[in-house]
Amino acid sequence: MSQHDALSEFDLIKQYFVRQRPGRATLGIGDDCALLTPAPGRQIAISSDMLVEDRHFFAGADARKLGHKSLAVNLSDLAAMGARPVAFTLALALPQAERGWLAAFSEGLFALADAHGCELIGGDTTKGPLNICITVFGELAPGQALRRDRAVAGDDIWISGTLGDARLALAGYRMEHTLAPHEMSEAASRMHTPTPRVELGCLLAETGLAHAAIDISDGLVGDLGHILKASGVGATLDVDALPAGPVLARQSAQLRRSYTLAGGDDYELCFTAPPSSREQIAALAARCATPATRVGSIDTAAGLRLVDATGAPLDLALRSFDHFTQ
Ligand code: ADP
Ligand code: MG
Repeated sequence: MSQHDALSEFDLIKQYFVRQRPGRATLGIGDDCALLTPAPGRQIAISSDMLVEDRHFFAGADARKLGHKSLAVNLSDLAAMGARPVAFTLALALPQAERGWLAAFSEGLFALADAHGCELIGGDTTKGPLNICITVFGELAPGQALRRDRAVAGDDIWISGTLGDARLALAGYRMEHTLAPHEMSEAASRMHTPTPRVELGCLLAETGLAHAAIDISDGLVGDLGHILKASGVGATLDVDALPAGPVLARQSAQLRRSYTLAGGDDYELCFTAPPSSREQIAALAARCATPATRVGSIDTAAGLRLVDATGAPLDLALRSFDHFTQ
């Protein structure tokens, strides 16, 4: 078929999303529902995340990277629960069926899916403004989920990887901040192709080392706030201990504080664990080649206290990202 032959909805699904390979699903794409059989005695973790053009990504965004990111943000939710990825569905609204776009999008999507053994088992396809909604299914042992309501006073607070480079890239695109071209491309890669911390999340759940976890998508202060609220506790954060992304680390202290605390699009894990687990957590993080940094502790007193490296209180005006207020 040439580039100009119109693609029907079913040709489109068959050519770009159906793959001829055996998978985990009992029944994959093609029927009214897919069928999944969980391994005996395991629970299924389920999460959906939607990416909307002009809201979550720029019009004209690179299709391959968009395929990666659409699944990455969903895998990040499984990681934050400690669930191993099994399968996903893809609901796609497209303004037109463009072969080049579909080929690149599905390539980016499947490269990440294959890296995590996560099989596409169904979805929906319609014409409309570009909108990508993925639902992921993961597996875990009952009682092992890293829930938001399990933080305990005295726990350490840990962050995986680094924070703030994605937000810095956004500042670059918005011309709020000037970056050298090589800095911009390094920061932008954190924004467009985030790495979900799946192995770290699963190991934290399977070893029982962590109490509570969340993935940081809307900024640390807001997302940690969800753990504090759900667990009925407070926290003290050492702002100068926060691991800044390599590009952000070279910017002013003020920008570093602001974007590590309230950036967005980080897709790192924030988790709590008792101090007795410190060495084991460091070993586990090394095992999955994901840095983990201790940045504070959970307290009985409600609220979040920000302090500097000397322990002196900081009064920073910060807001996490909210779709309906910004
Ligand atoms: P229905 O009419 O029941 O909604 P569809 O005709 O939309 O079913 O889809 C046919 C089959 O293709 C279903 O198994 C559905 O799950 C699958 N499917 C549709 N769109 C996609 C997609 N973008 N990716 C993967 N599978 C899809
Ligand atoms: Mg349908």
